[in-house]
Amino acid sequence: MDKRDEQNEQDEQKVEACIRILEEQYGVPRAEIMDPVDLLVMTILSQNTSDTNSLRAFGNLKKAFADYELLLNASTKDVAESIRAGGLADIKARRIRETLLKIKQDRGMIDLGFLGDMGEDAAMQYLLALPGVGPKTASVVLLFAFGLPFLPVDTHVYRVSRRLGLIPEDVKLEKAQTILERIVPVEKYLSVHLNMIRHGRLICRARGPRHGECALRIYCDSFQAEPKALNDSNNHPQSALR
Ligand code: SF4
Repeated sequence: MDKRDEQNEQDEQKVEACIRILEEQYGVPRAEIMDPVDLLVMTILSQNTSDTNSLRAFGNLKKAFADYELLLNASTKDVAESIRAGGLADIKARRIRETLLKIKQDRGMIDLGFLGDMGEDAAMQYLLALPGVGPKTASVVLLFAFGLPFLPVDTHVYRVSRRLGLIPEDVKLEKAQTILERIVPVEKYLSVHLNMIRHGRLICRARGPRHGECALRIYCDSFQAEPKALNDSNNHPQSALR
């Protein structure tokens, strides 16, 4: 086995180990089938706010408008009022209305079910062409609503995977998804997305990561680079792979 094969094998072992440890800690997530338009609206509402606030805003929006046609007929101001709990209400209300309007103009109805039949690349391109929809939002919709092979990378997934050394330090967020999709088994995309978000919120926080409580530390490049970690053989990855 040459050096490159050896490195690839070690990388694969590391990814598998991290996925297994996160699943032991947080469980194996199951996809709940959701309407893709609901998912799209929820993902827009989740931008720059907490889950609690965005879920509350989504609940209020659904209460205020029995369906998305009614929402389109309402003013941006009324939509913004209904989602006030989620923050950036005026911007998000405008974005939601523009997005729904574009779907309606394209398809004659506010429905994204057709994405499941058009092939994964075409489905991604369609979503990216909608106002305010970026790769993360599009990937969330395609993974969660249709089970298509996309691994959405948010700020938590990006931070945790960089610290672990699964992606190089200098890789930008936009490129991180391509690298992770190459090294994570497709059937684990959902698991990695959800469990890394949990881990990033609870343990591998942006400020003050809780290394001492982290079950991934023996595989973590960032932790291993700290002088204290290197001096402790129990914290060394080779001791786990042996
Ligand atoms: S050891 Fe520290 S830096 Fe590494 S994944 Fe755990 S909390 Fe994050």
